[in-house]
Amino acid sequence: MFEKKLKQFAKMSQALGVRADYAQGGGGNTSVKLNDEFMAVKASGYKLKDMKVDDGFVVIKYKEIQKYYAEVDLESDTDFYKDSTAFVKANTVTLPGLKDGMRASVEAGFHSLVYDYVLHTHSVYANLLCCTKEGKSIADKIFGKSEYGYAWVPYITPGFDLTLGIKHLLDDHDVMPKIIFMESHGILVSSDDYDECVMLHEMVSEAILEELDLPNEFEYVGLEETGEDTFVSKSEILKGYFKGTGRDSKWFEANILYPDQAAYLSGNVADGCCGNKININGGTGEVIYKTNYKEALTMEESIVALAYIMENAKAKKMTPVPMKQEDIDFIKNWEGVKYRKNLLKK
Ligand SMILES: [Zn+2]
Repeated sequence: MFEKKLKQFAKMSQALGVRADYAQGGGGNTSVKLNDEFMAVKASGYKLKDMKVDDGFVVIKYKEIQKYYAEVDLESDTDFYKDSTAFVKANTVTLPGLKDGMRASVEAGFHSLVYDYVLHTHSVYANLLCCTKEGKSIADKIFGKSEYGYAWVPYITPGFDLTLGIKHLLDDHDVMPKIIFMESHGILVSSDDYDECVMLHEMVSEAILEELDLPNEFEYVGLEETGEDTFVSKSEILKGYFKGTGRDSKWFEANILYPDQAAYLSGNVADGCCGNKININGGTGEVIYKTNYKEALTMEESIVALAYIMENAKAKKMTPVPMKQEDIDFIKNWEGVKYRKNLLKK
């Protein structure tokens, strides 16, 4: 059933997922509308690179989700974060041959609203714009007149509020934009055409690099195991990034740029060794992880992305805009994020 679309879905997800410049840990998500009723969307906590034609996603009745957001009564006394999550769950179906019991991505809501093929990532290139003061005007300049349509969404808490915010934004457009920048969060591209959707994600990255005159190079992530549940960062960009630069645990807390960094980094960094999951030795510059490989890698990818954005923002005289403490606290206490973090322990 839906063989061709599910193959495309797995292919486009894996292609993004193998790149730490696009997806860090279980971040980012993809979807495809299979017909007028069903949408396959990445399961929460899964990595994009692990998506297969028969695993890593759930199928939801997306028209029902659309209806939910069209009819929602904000005056009612409802916990919409709980309610919308339960609604997605209630509209999750199990196709024959698919695993049961997985949960749809916390971002399934906005996937329901846009074109058939959807790619959403926390691309470091898009986030160089999404997480800096100057980013919006640069994005406006590059994409403002794009034939594919472009929109910029101000920061909105992920989940129910973000989906509703995107719905309102789309309601304001005669033609639905295919390129949507999400402030302090990431990029969302969608199209009814598979090739166009894949092209758009790539094109956005390239256009940003070209506009900012940055080389197309991102150093991939590497970890070396040095003991039981102990790993040391081998990523080139992090060498020297912490050595004698004063970038310590306090610096991390003050420079969280987007929700996944709040989820993976905030509260997990210590100075020296080895008081926490992430340990920064300001003397040697070493980054030491004291946790399982899966979580260490997710954290490493998040730190590399953070360093990439901070370094390039600095080089281009752009001003990073860290998340507000109240927004960070919301993310850390959100049940949907706790669910994802629990999956990292397995
Ligand atoms: Zn996201």
